[in-house]
Amino acid sequence: MESHIQDKTSFKPVVGRFAPSPTGPLHFGTLLSALGSYLFAKCPGGSWLLRVEDLDPPRVVPGSAASMLKILDQLGFEWDGEVVYQSERFDRYQHVLTELREAGQVFDCNCTRREILASAPHPGEEGPVYPGSCRNGLRGKREERAVRLLVPEEVIGYCDGIFGQQLQHLRKEVGDFVLHRSDGLYAYQLAVVVDDIDAGVTQIVRGADLLSSTPRQIYLYRCLEIDPPDYFHLPLALGSDGRKLSKRNVNAGIVTVANGGKMLWWALEFLGQSPPQELLNSSSQELLEWGLNNFHAEQIPPRDRPIGF
Ligand code: GLU
Repeated sequence: MESHIQDKTSFKPVVGRFAPSPTGPLHFGTLLSALGSYLFAKCPGGSWLLRVEDLDPPRVVPGSAASMLKILDQLGFEWDGEVVYQSERFDRYQHVLTELREAGQVFDCNCTRREILASAPHPGEEGPVYPGSCRNGLRGKREERAVRLLVPEEVIGYCDGIFGQQLQHLRKEVGDFVLHRSDGLYAYQLAVVVDDIDAGVTQIVRGADLLSSTPRQIYLYRCLEIDPPDYFHLPLALGSDGRKLSKRNVNAGIVTVANGGKMLWWALEFLGQSPPQELLNSSSQELLEWGLNNFHAEQIPPRDRPIGF
């Protein structure tokens, strides 16, 4: 019989990644994900990959990816290998979508958002739960079609390394979700899983706003018959309006080369690492080095909260 006990002699090197969306300037919230994923990957001697999630052309701000990469480089972050751009990987997403279709795991849907809303059991945080209208054949009237993944009547659970046990009933809380949008763009859920699989990622560290996307991604791993990585979701830094920092409410939170050291000090502090006060005016390189030498993952508080600067 096949043993499920991990073979302690087969050491699996950590492969982490940082995957920013180039939708504006580098801000404190994005820096938290960069720093958190960097420390989690580099402390055990693993590699840290960089992927630009420019999947959705209307949301991409020209020049934003280049400026983010330049600042990260100047602050002292060192990534491994070439930067991957999602906009160059559409053929690969199509290939996986075809595989899923051949396995009978996806179906076409031509419902409008209004039709979905009208029949939704209850509108979830990310829009209405898809009620399954086209599961057994097209029902809507539109020409444009989305491709949805058929999800089971099942609770998907995982243990997040920071926020602990997470459970989601996919059918009831999300419904069959979109992998290929009716406007022809590939969905984030598909792209992120395919990219992380292809890059051999073993560990995903990112903002807690994605906690509820993870069960969908874990289910996609299952459909593709691949073990999912380990997940660590970082607490969110909130703006003065109590919402996640974004380009709309970021105010003082834009990261530049000039304020990078200070921002990294605050990011270490936000992640519960208690950097010494006297390092507040140190260079970003010194702060990154201090972080690498003093990182304690268990000190990261599983609580979203306002930033202190
Ligand atoms: N691109 C996403 C963001 O910037 C992160 C996706 C991920 O880490 O899985 O919010």
